Amino acid sequence: MTSDRPDATVDIADPDVIGPDAIGPDAIGPDAEATDIAALDAADPLRGFRSRFTLPEGVLYLDGNSLGALPAHTSERIARLVRQEWGEGLIRSWNEAGWYDLPRGLGDRIAPLVGAAPGQTVVCDSTSVNLFKVLTAARRLRPDRRVLVAELGSFPTDLYLTEGVGVAARDRRLLDRDGWTTDSLADLLADDTAVLLLSHVDYRTGELRDMAGITELAHRHGALVVWDLCHSVGALPVELDATGADFAVGCSYKYLNGGPGSPAFLYAAARHHDAAEQPLTGWFGHADPFAFEPGYRPADGIGRFLTGTPPLLSMAGLQAALDLWDEVDLTALRAKSLSLTSLFLELTAPLGLPSLTPAEPSRRGSQVSLRHPHAYAVMQALIERGVIGDFRAPDVLRFGFTPLYLSHRDVLDAATALREVLESGVWREQRFTASAGAVT
Ligand SMILES: *Cc1c(COP(=O)(O)O)cnc(C)c1O
Repeated sequence: MTSDRPDATVDIADPDVIGPDAIGPDAIGPDAEATDIAALDAADPLRGFRSRFTLPEGVLYLDGNSLGALPAHTSERIARLVRQEWGEGLIRSWNEAGWYDLPRGLGDRIAPLVGAAPGQTVVCDSTSVNLFKVLTAARRLRPDRRVLVAELGSFPTDLYLTEGVGVAARDRRLLDRDGWTTDSLADLLADDTAVLLLSHVDYRTGELRDMAGITELAHRHGALVVWDLCHSVGALPVELDATGADFAVGCSYKYLNGGPGSPAFLYAAARHHDAAEQPLTGWFGHADPFAFEPGYRPADGIGRFLTGTPPLLSMAGLQAALDLWDEVDLTALRAKSLSLTSLFLELTAPLGLPSLTPAEPSRRGSQVSLRHPHAYAVMQALIERGVIGDFRAPDVLRFGFTPLYLSHRDVLDAATALREVLESGVWREQRFTASAGAVT
């Protein structure tokens, strides 16, 4: 995170050095391609991070937006927790190894990644559970309003949770699945909306929403905003405090590389802490958990959003991943991310697959989604070649670009593999199409 890191002196945001503008059609012509791409990689201030991950030989991993890769020192960190902190420290480790403080401590290490001052972010539970907590808390802060606005095209759990928090069907308004504008959002908000729930980056298309503009719009209509950051944290700088966001949630196992099932985070703006009442009133959120009082009294501050005993083995993985994030300059991260996605869009444009991902860099997260009527089979054929992306129904090839462990050379290789799979028609072979009824 420190932007004053000594080796981060190359200004990656300078388009002459590296960045989307440096990758014009001339730069990637058949002849110029390889040398220019090597130059982009040579000028990449984040290139040193690749060696700090363990990735299998022969795999080009473009699915870090679903499950991030393994940092090289994570296994050792988890083994230490098991052998020393648990095996030897036993129950003493709650204090001596700092277990008790981890939900708040790791929250404060994620805070700079989401533009939050300390004391507003905790690590706990899953994104789904945290959504339940913050949606309920936000609704209770607007008791005179009943409407919740969300997106029909959001990741399903977000949509399901808008049902789970008990909003009546008539009080739930959904933005269109494909393309909505600020005007259509303003219409839906009207003046009776309690809460607006949005993904900062759309998981399917990779579209990046204008957090500042939308938060301001929602507030003008008297609504509170909950941001889902699953596809933006660790992919680009996020500015929760500066944009006036009310609440946010996000995963740590995607771009943050916390490991499979690593716990999620939850942000609540400090101005809401005193009045916020979340529904899962467990002992970890109690003002004095070890007093064992019969009645619930919420902790002061962000601690009231905690519920129960944290999953310490999973937290150790996230703790290790955050050692890397402590060193990442987010401006460089964003510049490289756009450089990678722009290059992939340019290299794959001649293939003629419609892109769901915005062409304008400012509206793009860190993934590229291309449509193909047989996307499932095409992705299976790519995976057989070691290029791992994913498929999203009904027809989306999704490629995530993680700036810490991918290079421009990887992007060229992935684009070449996609071209070969399509040109050869290998994806038509029975073994790629016959699986799980996923292909129509
Ligand atoms: C991945 C993802 C989730 C996952 O929620 P879990 O509770 O971790 O299963 C939620 N929302 C979005 C937008 C996601 O991309």
